[in-house]
Amino acid sequence: MNIHEYQAKEILRAHGVPVPPGEIATTPEEAERIAAAFGGMVVVKAQVHAGGRGKAGGVKLADDAADARDKAGAILGLEIKGLTVEKVLITPAEDIASEAYLGIVMDRGSQSDVIMVSSEGGIDIEEVAATNPDAIQKLAVDARYGLLPHQASGLAFGLYDDPKLARQAARIISQLYEAYRAAGCTLAEINPLISTPAGEVKAIDAKMNIDDSALFRLPDVEAMRDEASENLFERKAREAGLSYIPLDGDVGCCVNGAGLAMATMDLVKYYGGEPANFLDIGGSSNPEKVVTAFEIIMSDPAVKSILFNIFGGITRCDDVANGIVEATRRIDVGLPIAIRLTGTNEDVAVEILKENGFEAMTDMDEVVKRAVELAAGSAG
Ligand code: GDP
Ligand code: MN
Repeated sequence: MNIHEYQAKEILRAHGVPVPPGEIATTPEEAERIAAAFGGMVVVKAQVHAGGRGKAGGVKLADDAADARDKAGAILGLEIKGLTVEKVLITPAEDIASEAYLGIVMDRGSQSDVIMVSSEGGIDIEEVAATNPDAIQKLAVDARYGLLPHQASGLAFGLYDDPKLARQAARIISQLYEAYRAAGCTLAEINPLISTPAGEVKAIDAKMNIDDSALFRLPDVEAMRDEASENLFERKAREAGLSYIPLDGDVGCCVNGAGLAMATMDLVKYYGGEPANFLDIGGSSNPEKVVTAFEIIMSDPAVKSILFNIFGGITRCDDVANGIVEATRRIDVGLPIAIRLTGTNEDVAVEILKENGFEAMTDMDEVVKRAVELAAGSAG
């Protein structure tokens, strides 16, 4: 799950990170009122789940309240990477002496949380990583001990020569790590971490990605979900208890069990096709779930064939077969479907499908090959 900058800043504040105050506006008038209350110059910042807002015109300095109204008017409704801006954050403008980068990611390679700091802040860290990798200091945190004070200091002194700034940065690095752990993050970034001419270190931007699997134990974080800015079909899938990840191919996959779904995608590629998605319909497959699965797969205009691959253990093949029949009765699928069912009640399932004009297979290679051919329009 993604959260907005203003929400990530709330979490950071709760962990003691110095973050300038801010208020959310949904209209230019509201932006003007908030800016007037702060007084002086403010920054108007689009709240969307997309990187590179600044470059897309989503971050603007405003001289006064009237200017904040105009800038908010320009940013609200703006489209950034396909997402419409519905909220802006109004925050007092800071004087910036230097901009640094501070981030933590869950890193599969080192099987740990990795802290990254760079004095090349403000810009894309990916760009720094590509053109000047030595400018990034990295530290893999040993989960047995957590982040130790001397490690935070080491990183901070790599960032600032001035010990006054480095000491503040060390505290912020530790606080960011605490926030990252507490909020179930897979990524937490402060970019830029600024120093001011008065010698203060502060976070003026924040980004967090939350591990979906941690949300069940974090109701306060779950409450930060902004449904309006989520992909409609990913949301539908989540609400129906389906795991769905859209991909770039054209073979729509509907599978039960994550392992079988992965194996199916591998096989689609093996036979020269490209999966349009990962979709795990889970253990029990009532017809409603299958109908939702159809709707989600068909929401992707790139899909050219639909592949069902069901292994009936606890899942009963006849339930899935009934779901397919029910779904195609209710919605006009209009795409070729290749079905493979094997396991519990396989015979009944094949009967149900045959009676309703579907062909059902029991061999996984065959059905995947067929789905790939159907997508390519080359099936005989
Ligand atoms: P992003 O482009 O979406 O990452 O948005 P940021 O909040 O990181 O802002 C982008 C850039 O705008 C920063 O790197 C700063 O250079 C500038 N900026 C943002 N807030 C302020 C501010 O309060 N004062 C000043 N002077 N510049 C700011
Ligand atoms: Mn930023």
